Amino acid sequence: MAIERTFSIIKPDAVAKNHIGAIYNRFETAGLKIIASKMVHLSQEQAEGFYAEHSERPFFGALVAFMTSGPIMVQVLEGENAVLAHREILGATNPAEAAEGTIRADFAESIDENAAHGSDSLASAEREVAYFFSAEELCPRTR
Ligand code: UDP
Repeated sequence: MAIERTFSIIKPDAVAKNHIGAIYNRFETAGLKIIASKMVHLSQEQAEGFYAEHSERPFFGALVAFMTSGPIMVQVLEGENAVLAHREILGATNPAEAAEGTIRADFAESIDENAAHGSDSLASAEREVAYFFSAEELCPRTR
């Protein structure tokens, strides 16, 4: 099994509802180790840049407004098959379709405000980690 790194966001809705600790608990219970973490309040430019691939989608303006509406937590998670393992505990984009017991099923209200983000591939993970963290900010687990 490959040890991978993936990128996670706890979005403004879940931060506002004080679900940071509960969601971190899901990561740790799944065997994913947090190797970097910080709270940020995205600027319009940062949010637009992060979601650039969706810039032509009809929901883009609302997505940027939501993602800048309050602080978020950004994390790097490390573990076996971390990209897929994280997507599995995250659940489907639309919480109404998310499997029981997933983060989005338990903490999200709607497809627009869906509590958390997880990289969908190793290539996305690399880009997204680098968007928020310098190499020095990553703290691989040595014990
Ligand atoms: N999104 C939305 N409306 C939609 C589809 C997506 O607001 O109809 C938002 C939602 O916050 C989602 C993000 O855009 O998490 C990125 O969409 P993607 O399809 O990449 O889903 P994800 O990878 O986050 O599950």
